[in-house]
Amino acid sequence: MGQGLSCGTNDEHGLFSAVQHGDLETVEAVLDKNPSLIHHTVYDRYSVLHVAAANGQIEILSMLLSRSVNPDLSNRHKQTPLMLAAMHGKINCVQKLIEAGANILKFDSVNGRTCLHYAAYYGHSDCLKVILSAARTNHVAVSWGYSRFVNIRDGKGATPLHLAARQRRPECVHALLDSGALVCASTGGYGFPGSTPLHLAARGGSLDCVRELLAWGADRLNRDASGRIPYTVALRHNHGACAALLNPSSAEPLVWPSPLKLISELNQEAKVLLERALMEANREREKSILKGTSFSVASPSHSDTGTDDNVSEISDTELCGICFDQVCTIEVQPCGHQMCAQCTLALCCHNKPNPMTATVAIPACPFCRSSIVQLIVAKVKTENSIELDVNSPKLRKSRRSWNLNEGSSSFKGLGAVGSISKIVGRGSGRIAIENEWIDKPVGLDT
Ligand SMILES: [Zn+2]
Ligand SMILES: [Zn+2]
Repeated sequence: MGQGLSCGTNDEHGLFSAVQHGDLETVEAVLDKNPSLIHHTVYDRYSVLHVAAANGQIEILSMLLSRSVNPDLSNRHKQTPLMLAAMHGKINCVQKLIEAGANILKFDSVNGRTCLHYAAYYGHSDCLKVILSAARTNHVAVSWGYSRFVNIRDGKGATPLHLAARQRRPECVHALLDSGALVCASTGGYGFPGSTPLHLAARGGSLDCVRELLAWGADRLNRDASGRIPYTVALRHNHGACAALLNPSSAEPLVWPSPLKLISELNQEAKVLLERALMEANREREKSILKGTSFSVASPSHSDTGTDDNVSEISDTELCGICFDQVCTIEVQPCGHQMCAQCTLALCCHNKPNPMTATVAIPACPFCRSSIVQLIVAKVKTENSIELDVNSPKLRKSRRSWNLNEGSSSFKGLGAVGSISKIVGRGSGRIAIENEWIDKPVGLDT
């Protein structure tokens, strides 16, 4: 560093350029010489902290924060460094700023948006999750209320979910819904007045966003202020595949049964299994919806062939006793009966959750009829501990898929549960299953 530079402009220029390029040494040297530059701003009142955050210069950002610079410095548009880090997806900087006490409840003066809006709009789901998890503990959000924060509106009435749906950000849509974002909230002036996230997803044309929203119970019949349903919006914007799913006359998808207590208490592993089962069941259903149209669903081919290969390798004892098609991955508590994720999910989706009412019937175990209190990931059984001896090869051959995916009712398959549980239920659980199936396995095919 040149000594004796009295001209602030040179130092200032060198400083901002060094911050942008991550030259920590230079930045420290300049600030050591002229500490007040840390509060200096350029252009639209961007500070060095803004520049470090926007460029993801985590070392410099940390150093600046350690010199106790205010983490909530605002530029001319009242944007904080945290907003810029969220906008540019600089996850480390988002994390560091929040640790340093940055306020997640600041609004900019452009659109009245928070850092959560920025993360959702620009599709940085990792940043979004960090902000959301901060909001669970952050004292500001706690006093404000977590769910109010998740559904925070910008100056035009858009929630983060509206922005994520409009900007085609399915991962953000998912994270927000999972955190309690209101799936049917309507906007004020954003987009078209009265738009729901589903209207905006239809407008943006993201099939993945449409899928997520439908799976969380978005209503295809909601109208915006001009009386349009999402289907009409998708058609107008030539998003044919979205329109096919949004068509109120096409089959309804399975909806994640979030109001169920046992669903809200799932551990992460069980939740992932069930969520995957939901999306796969809905994709299968989509195939039949889109069959008559010129659209095909671009879906990874992991499901069909892969599953079949696995199934052929596993022993019968691990097969789900309801569908005879999938591996048992979920164990029902307290009775301990096991079934596959698809069947578990369909049981829980039996009563389509109504977000307006808190009352949802608690599903019963199809084997023993006891109320299901908890779902956990099934442990792989060892040969000796297997009580349910259904090793008959006949059962293998009678594998029949439990048709969750087709037909106008999503719960067509539950008829199968009903009838099978009549066959096997009768209160004595595994023993009943064993007797019935060994006596007359043919009965299952009728
Ligand atoms: Zn099953
Ligand atoms: Zn049971």
